[in-house]
Amino acid sequence: MKGADGTRRLFFALWPDADVRKQLAVAARQWTRRPVADANLHLTLQFLGGRTAAELACCREAAGTVQGEAFELQLDYLGGWTKPRVQWLGTSHIPPALLQLVEQLQAALLPCGIDAPTRRYVPHVTLSRKEKNPRVQAGLAPVCWQVEDFVLAESVSTEQGVRYDVLQRWPLSGP
Ligand code: ATP
Ligand code: MG
Repeated sequence: MKGADGTRRLFFALWPDADVRKQLAVAARQWTRRPVADANLHLTLQFLGGRTAAELACCREAAGTVQGEAFELQLDYLGGWTKPRVQWLGTSHIPPALLQLVEQLQAALLPCGIDAPTRRYVPHVTLSRKEKNPRVQAGLAPVCWQVEDFVLAESVSTEQGVRYDVLQRWPLSGP
């Protein structure tokens, strides 16, 4: 769906399969009162914002040049950000392969006119928004996520709230 300026709101992400999604949904219910919709649970790699058709084509090509490796993500850390009022699930062991994937993506997107974010990358799955007093807790029983691909997703706003559509998927290489 295009915005008023003809752009589409895009981001690269890790997309949980049905089993991991179920576990994330359980965690969202356990730790928050108003969990995000199960179908919306994901982990953003890089947010792109509103992009034209030409930029989208460039992003697809760029993603195809990324040579990432598969990795296991252990989500064992409950994080909270007070100002954006977000409760999230993250990890106390960030896999090097995840950081390498993000760095590769950032570099590949530069020729598309997409600058790398200035903020330090914190991998997280948003569990709830508008959380007044987000909590922080380490050492949770981990949600184990075997990451074997990454996706380009579109954020579509609807009357029922935001929805994400997966536009394309790229595999990561096995061990
Ligand atoms: P909404 O903004 O409609 O409440 P949302 O935040 O889930 O819903 P988007 O704003 O389209 O939807 O964001 C899509 C994804 O990109 C989410 O994972 C969001 O956290 C992330 N994201 C959004 N804006 C930024 C940003 N400026 N920097 C980094 N990540 C972002
Ligand atoms: Mg947002």
